[in-house]
Amino acid sequence: MPIYSGGLGILSGDHTKEASDLGLPFIGIGFLYPQGYFRQKITQNGDQEAVYVKVRFAEAPAEPAFTADGKEIVVSVALPARNGLPDRRVYAKVYKIQIGNVPLYLMDTDIHPNALEDRELSARLYGGDQEMRIAQEMVLGIGGVRALRALGIEPAVYHMNEGHSAFMVLERAIDMVKNGLTFAEAQEIIRKSSVFTTHTPVPAGHDAFPFHMIDKYFPKWHEFLKINREEFLNLARQEQSWGPTFSMTVLALKMSGRHNGVSKLHSEVSRKMWNWLWPNKNVDEVPISHITNGIHTETWLASELKVLFDEYLGKNWTRRIDDEAMWKGVHHIPDDKLWDIMNILRKNLVDFVRMRTRQRLIRLRMHPNEIQATANLLNPNALTIGFARRFATYKRATLIFHDNERLKRIIHGDGSRPVQFIFAGKAHPRDEPGKDFIREVYHRSHEAGLAGHLIFLEDYDINVARYMVAGVDVWLNTPRRPMEASGTSGQKAGLNGSPNLSILDGWWAEGYNGKNGWAIGDPEAEYASEYDQNHADASSIYEILENEVIPAFYSRDTKGAPSQWLKIVKETIATVAPQFSMSRMIKDYTNNLYIPSTGSRLSY
Ligand SMILES: *Cc1c(COP(=O)(O)O)cnc(C)c1O
Repeated sequence: MPIYSGGLGILSGDHTKEASDLGLPFIGIGFLYPQGYFRQKITQNGDQEAVYVKVRFAEAPAEPAFTADGKEIVVSVALPARNGLPDRRVYAKVYKIQIGNVPLYLMDTDIHPNALEDRELSARLYGGDQEMRIAQEMVLGIGGVRALRALGIEPAVYHMNEGHSAFMVLERAIDMVKNGLTFAEAQEIIRKSSVFTTHTPVPAGHDAFPFHMIDKYFPKWHEFLKINREEFLNLARQEQSWGPTFSMTVLALKMSGRHNGVSKLHSEVSRKMWNWLWPNKNVDEVPISHITNGIHTETWLASELKVLFDEYLGKNWTRRIDDEAMWKGVHHIPDDKLWDIMNILRKNLVDFVRMRTRQRLIRLRMHPNEIQATANLLNPNALTIGFARRFATYKRATLIFHDNERLKRIIHGDGSRPVQFIFAGKAHPRDEPGKDFIREVYHRSHEAGLAGHLIFLEDYDINVARYMVAGVDVWLNTPRRPMEASGTSGQKAGLNGSPNLSILDGWWAEGYNGKNGWAIGDPEAEYASEYDQNHADASSIYEILENEVIPAFYSRDTKGAPSQWLKIVKETIATVAPQFSMSRMIKDYTNNLYIPSTGSRLSY
């Protein structure tokens, strides 16, 4: 379903699938973004063009959701006048997608009798202004709880996966106060039964609204809750240099009993970020724990490798994915068998790149000779390094070009040890610096000495990701520490036997063990400037490539397989696959957060 944008959307999809695999009594709620998704086209100048895809409901595996007595469910939320629109209710129709055992309910505002502008509310994930954003989040949080009520579902635990859904706590509180509880009593119950996960230290990921907007969008809510306006605003008050705001993250933190970040390092950063909410606690006592992200193994594992795992990990290995001892079986895979698969997966990727590049050049009406030449693009036997992710600037996609001449020497070597790079990734359509990075990578890929050895593959999506994480030999990741809360693409690569060459940020700070890949730079170093940091990190990448990666990859034993390399590959699979599986992650959520939050509602 093309309703994701980047890592968090992919993670939520994997989360839902694993909840189904484990048989959790779990349901998901979100938006059915009919235009939530753009396809990326790169022009001849390297500009990113966003082409929005409209989901056709007839083709989507979604069906209307019904109440117990057979009525289609439509929920509504009151919104105040704006832009010529009167005070009104906005309606959202609820759809259901069944994901194995788990129902996913998605709301759509593109229905009668909503005004044109309200129909667009659920059209796109990011876009519009603050007023559109608050209205979206009201439909999600408040409408979401109303949808559950219409469905007759009474969850034992509510998981706010990122702050965008945090208005749900207000809707739950209203209901309880209406039924006779005081706000303090309601708050107590809501806290006990709510879990909140924060997903990024990047400020733009934490929505906050000025108080005048809250007054406008939640008139009388404090009266309904039987508290005063000040108490209402204090539920989410965050002081900014320009005045107080109503922060969705603060609301979620204050109204939930259990909170976590998505890696060990990210939880440390989060404890610092939110320490002010617990002024009597030291930073290490701030109650934000961590559950490191993982991936849904069978979604991301190449089928060619699955055949090998079936043979060497024992029967029913897919039921013991988080079992670290079981994965040691990977070390029994004979080198030549594993190497054959690695070569096939790399060749599949090279063929895919050639096919996609050919299609693009045909679209751009290039000369037939150029189109023909795509048949020889890249080398299916060369050491292949992949970099694919959202082009947010903190991920530093262009770091590898820091010393371009050294990069060219690495790529060409003495002619017998070729190295090549494949880049992919979308920038947020309004992120101009991110789009500049794409332009730079694109232009580099046409520069003498790099052309043919370094490719930007357009339209990064799940399909491209699957080819890349399976086909490359090394997965490169260069975030500015500690901005990468977790990251999951490197976990996908690791599962498929592609070791990580990465900054010790996010999950890799936990995953790296000295034998399963490489750590870029010195995590403890302090730099006077971003340039100094870039210089040190880029130099570290070049050194590791020159002295470790390339020699290991190209030292072949008598049968032609690189045994030293394959030792790293096996260690990568054996360590990354269990620890960073969605299976381990969901068990952690269930045992550490969900079950303790059920109170007396569930007994195990
Ligand atoms: C896994 C994945 C992501 C997230 O990867 P990061 O490591 O967090 O950058 C984003 N987009 C797609 C298509 C993915 O498959």
